[in-house]
Amino acid sequence: KESRAMKFQRQHMDPDGPSNNSNYCNQMMRRRLMTEGRCKPVNTFVHEPLVDVQAVCLQGNITCKNGQPNCHKSSSSMKITDCRVTSGSKYPNCDYRTSQKKRHIIVACEGNPYVPVHFDA
Ligand code: 5GP
Repeated sequence: KESRAMKFQRQHMDPDGPSNNSNYCNQMMRRRLMTEGRCKPVNTFVHEPLVDVQAVCLQGNITCKNGQPNCHKSSSSMKITDCRVTSGSKYPNCDYRTSQKKRHIIVACEGNPYVPVHFDA
């Protein structure tokens, strides 16, 4: 079974991306299996080395949106792509808007090793 850590990598890691094109989210949301059963409405991909994203688990500890205490905010801003389903999108034809940004990211971490398992913001 896919671990929560592996699921985080499938849904959120794209260190070598993004290919600079407006279809990035349409292609990646499908390729990473987030358009099965429904179109996942909002998802972020991070374009930084995996070790740098894993290191966020050692950075500023904050409360997660769901009230759990195990969230961490990156000390640096990171290259990300925000994928958001368009208002006209109709499953199974999931249509996304692609926006590139640089942001501090917030992830939830768990386990031993203590690694990212959820993208919070
Ligand atoms: P909205 O902007 O639509 O009100 O809410 C979207 C929320 O989802 C934002 O708070 C944003 O931080 C958060 N968000 C962005 N990317 C992801 C993601 O990949 N997974 C989850 N669970 N939330 C995300």
